[in-house]
Amino acid sequence: MGSPFTVARMSCVAGAAFRIKGRRRCAIFHARFNLAGRWNRVISNKRWTNRHVGRHRRAMMLLALIGLIATPPTGGAAADRPRAEHPVTLAFRARRPARRYSVTVPIGKPRPAVPLPRIEGPDDNRLPLVVIDAGHGGHDPGAISPHNGRREKDVTLAIARAIRDELLASRRVRVALTRDDDRFLVLEERYGIARRLKADLFISVHADAAENSEAHGASVYTLSEVASDREAARLAARENKANIINGVDLGAHGDAVSSILIDLTQRETMNASAEFARLLQREASDEMTFRTTAHRFASFVVLKAPDTPSVLFETGFLSNKGDAAFLASASGRKKVARGVREAVQIHFARRLAAE
Ligand SMILES: [Zn+2]
Repeated sequence: MGSPFTVARMSCVAGAAFRIKGRRRCAIFHARFNLAGRWNRVISNKRWTNRHVGRHRRAMMLLALIGLIATPPTGGAAADRPRAEHPVTLAFRARRPARRYSVTVPIGKPRPAVPLPRIEGPDDNRLPLVVIDAGHGGHDPGAISPHNGRREKDVTLAIARAIRDELLASRRVRVALTRDDDRFLVLEERYGIARRLKADLFISVHADAAENSEAHGASVYTLSEVASDREAARLAARENKANIINGVDLGAHGDAVSSILIDLTQRETMNASAEFARLLQREASDEMTFRTTAHRFASFVVLKAPDTPSVLFETGFLSNKGDAAFLASASGRKKVARGVREAVQIHFARRLAAE
């Protein structure tokens, strides 16, 4: 059963008073409150006048009204339900949709920085640091030679090691390789390593391929937003594709950011890079064949370090039989490495003299 209010309501609904044996009596009982707030039941036996009935009815109506507000209409178990289930509230609540939809917005996770490679050479921080980057690696083989089946990623790693050994033998510079095994690195990670090591020069080693098997010879590329020719632009597009796996660009920056970096801080770096590119062609020409227009410009991602002079060294064409054999041989690699060594030594000697 409900509260006394429920009873009062029932009595009121029944008419509050009716006749028993010809007398008006209270229907069941009526509640009255004393000053202390306690209520007590009074069974009234006295004869009711119309005035009594009216007063009683009003009192019952008031109690019933309070009862309506305070008591759940179903009473009993319903009284234990939480207030939120009250039907009045429910009537104004929006219906829960039958199906729920969710939208997932991918937010780029920052890639954990790749571990820095070991710096080799004399333990002297004053000596310039050269970072050699063997192009491609891991799932990205680069170009594949139709003549000896050699993959660019293996050829570049062997040449990078040869250059390292040659530079270390000079004892005039310190050297680090971005990779010394068959692993994949995003292009930004490659120059990122050079920047984190505070490198003084960055050389990315590659070997080209062309449909025309007659195309041969090396070339040196430096960064420019405007490619020097269509072939340079195509090559940059191909090399920059290393970042794209299953249509997802693993590089962190959009074009806008890259452009700003270039516009604001790279002028001096680009000049130093171009100077080294010309030097490399001049010094290595005794050892290996260069193309007629050996120094070219294009927007290579791997050259976008704003503060590290950087070149991309296309050492030859794997699609050319002569070049492929030259680059695959230890003697060929040694010649390439000697050319780089000469250029590096002159480059830093000039820098030292200019200070
Ligand atoms: Zn390449």
